[in-house]
Amino acid sequence: MMQKAIFLDRDGTINHDPGYIKDPSIVKILPGVAEGIKRLKDDFGFKMIVISNQAGVSKGLMTLEDVENVNRRVNELLMEEGAEIDAFYYCPFHPEIDSQEKAKCRKPSPFMIVQAAEDFEVDLSLSYMIGDKASDVEAGINAGVKTVLMESSSTAQEISALHNLGKKPNFTAANFLEACDFVIKDLSGGF
Ligand SMILES: [Mg+2]
Repeated sequence: MMQKAIFLDRDGTINHDPGYIKDPSIVKILPGVAEGIKRLKDDFGFKMIVISNQAGVSKGLMTLEDVENVNRRVNELLMEEGAEIDAFYYCPFHPEIDSQEKAKCRKPSPFMIVQAAEDFEVDLSLSYMIGDKASDVEAGINAGVKTVLMESSSTAQEISALHNLGKKPNFTAANFLEACDFVIKDLSGGF
């Protein structure tokens, strides 16, 4: 049977985003994230898959190992609360530094979502992308999933960037639990 998945941005969506986070000891999970992930997995059977741009690697600000260590720490903290991410996909490249070919994984490209969908036999039409940036919403739309924009300090900019592209999220949520509520209501045809 085909799976359904929630594709999640990492920094600013799951954990606090101080910018180019490389030290696992400063990882802080945002409120409601563990609870929301647990509900969507345990009660609704979604795979939870992180889709993250990590161009700090190409920029020389961190190593692949740093990214992996932060990913591991995110999951450790979630698991302390009974939640777990099934897989982490990240793009360490940037088109201004690397070839277009290498950087093709970078959101807003749907590349990583499509790759994860293949790896986990995910039906994209039953799946969602949750993120705090226009590029998250755009990647989701490009992959054919429904999208939720989570509010952050830059939400006004993100919405205007999307507006200029003629794209908009299916829902804008004040926080992670509200994003999860949207998914749950949407599943039952509540919108
Ligand atoms: Mg983010």
